[in-house]
Amino acid sequence: MTEEIKFSVLVSLFNWIQKSKTSSQKRSKFRKFLDAYCKPSDYFSAVRLIIPSLDRERGSYGLKESVLATCLVDALGISRDAPDAVRLLNWRKGGTAKAGVNAGNFSLIAAEVLQRRQGMASGGLSVKELNDLLDRLASSENRGEKTSVLSTLIQKTNAQEMKWVIRIILKDLKLGMSERSIFQEFHPDAEDLFNVTCDLKLVCEKLRDRHQRHKRQDIEVGKAVRPQLAMRISDVNAAWKKLHGKDVVAECKFDGDRIQIHKNGTEIHYFSRNFLDHSEYAHAMSDLIVQNIMADKCILDGEMLVWDTSLNRFAEFGSNQEIAKAAREGLDSHRQLCYVAFDVLYVGDTSVIHQSLKERHELLRKVVKPLKGRLEVLVPEGGLNVHRPSGEPSWSIVVHSAADVERFFKETVENRDEGVVLKDLGSKWEPGDRSGKWLKLKPEYVRAGSDLDVLIIGGYYGSGRHGGEVAQFLVALADRADANVYPRRFLSFCRVGTGLSDEELHTVVSKLKPYFRKNEHPKKAPPSFYQVTNHSKERPDVWIESPEKSIILSITSDIRTIRSEVFVAPYSLRFPRIDKVRYDKPWHECLDVQAFVELVNSSNGT
Ligand code: ATP
Repeated sequence: MTEEIKFSVLVSLFNWIQKSKTSSQKRSKFRKFLDAYCKPSDYFSAVRLIIPSLDRERGSYGLKESVLATCLVDALGISRDAPDAVRLLNWRKGGTAKAGVNAGNFSLIAAEVLQRRQGMASGGLSVKELNDLLDRLASSENRGEKTSVLSTLIQKTNAQEMKWVIRIILKDLKLGMSERSIFQEFHPDAEDLFNVTCDLKLVCEKLRDRHQRHKRQDIEVGKAVRPQLAMRISDVNAAWKKLHGKDVVAECKFDGDRIQIHKNGTEIHYFSRNFLDHSEYAHAMSDLIVQNIMADKCILDGEMLVWDTSLNRFAEFGSNQEIAKAAREGLDSHRQLCYVAFDVLYVGDTSVIHQSLKERHELLRKVVKPLKGRLEVLVPEGGLNVHRPSGEPSWSIVVHSAADVERFFKETVENRDEGVVLKDLGSKWEPGDRSGKWLKLKPEYVRAGSDLDVLIIGGYYGSGRHGGEVAQFLVALADRADANVYPRRFLSFCRVGTGLSDEELHTVVSKLKPYFRKNEHPKKAPPSFYQVTNHSKERPDVWIESPEKSIILSITSDIRTIRSEVFVAPYSLRFPRIDKVRYDKPWHECLDVQAFVELVNSSNGT
């Protein structure tokens, strides 16, 4: 018992690491702690407190700052309206009085409050006791129980120690030392082993001797693998330069939950990006996975999304949990979970991460039997069973030039998608890598100086010409001959679809629906108020019968406007996005061409 490490020793280590300026000083403090104060059998109990965000042995505490503040106030027995309680509850502002230097830093504000109530001497808590109490905190089901654990912790610590306990609970120690440095100092193979197992306990137990190298371990079904990530790149040309000479695939960047599906016979796991097992997807997905994955053991990498069967497209991000719950409760819905597999990591009895992406695409085709809107495979050449809302079939294409990427990117953004991911088809899948084998391009919206308030003159169906709802608009600028009279001519300006939530889009479309006039003959002239070119891209599926019936949209866009060949107005916008619907603004107050040209000229001059 006497040999147990005291938490105060760990607190001194934290303070030293935090104070040390250089990474090598920080590492040497950590090394000294491991060698002088920690038995190898205690490594896990200490390391899990140093990098708590990677510890999966304990469930979640369910305590973010605001709930933690309430529990601490109760644990300290302060009334909720006492100044210290207010300080804690309003931690972002540093309390209601003048903002203190610690504003926004929860653990420092808590330490200030605790200092006035706790003694200076160490509370004598051991690392083992702390871990036991944290286990209790994670397993307690209500706030009352959590408060009681916190009150025990407060009794057994001083304010300094409690500050660090709070940081451990919030899973961010702010040591200024990267997780990579901690792993490297612990053992040269620690990071690799963690990346393929996501199991900190196993790493601490297997790698007790830093001089004994560990044979590189491959991934296993049932153990989460740290996901390969994408590096953000600013623009198409930079991306193309980086991928110079490689075979490249451009894929749509889906906006859902990154999920790794591990199948072992009928046992299925759904590991998230943070290696949590999301068993809530099991009800809706597991039978389907068992039946449609043609390998007994398999790991798929992909995105869990929601497919809307009535709109025939993916729903906006954010409804996965709700739809998973509806499926469990047997509720009828036009929305369903849909898994898009974009990679495969394990098939049969072997890991395939060392094969090229091109080879893995072949395996994906063989292993997964797609089911429209439920289980999809993202491989180039018509891999995805469902079509884009615009009717374009491609969610993934092999690209041969920067221009190909630009076109695909533009199409993706017009389709209300999040961006694109570019991947080297010759690359292997690398656990935890973010070094640029995958590049992500996301649109950057710069406000065009002031709002561009444009008028809707037409609509495009969301999925093919014959089905679905209007999901994009053709918008126009007014051509104002005389400032004192209402404009009678409108010049087509751009096509826009991104920016509105599904509900907002639905509201606009239902308001306009009575005035839709189907554009059945593409060659037929539009209503006389509208001036458009003959370019097919500009021809909407429906026209708004007259401008007085229409609605103004406020648009933001990349300021680098491009000279338009497709639309009548002299410039069009790159990646336009709807900012809001201006129900408050009458149709005739829409922006006119002259004002827009001035705006472009003035922003070019700056
Ligand atoms: P963001 O906040 O931009 O989504 P992120 O930090 O979650 O980024 P990144 O590494 O930047 O993660 O981007 C990779 C993420 O993009 C993946 O974790 C995955 O969830 C998502 N994603 C969507 N479509 C794809 C795709 N086709 N290929 C790879 N990742 C994809």
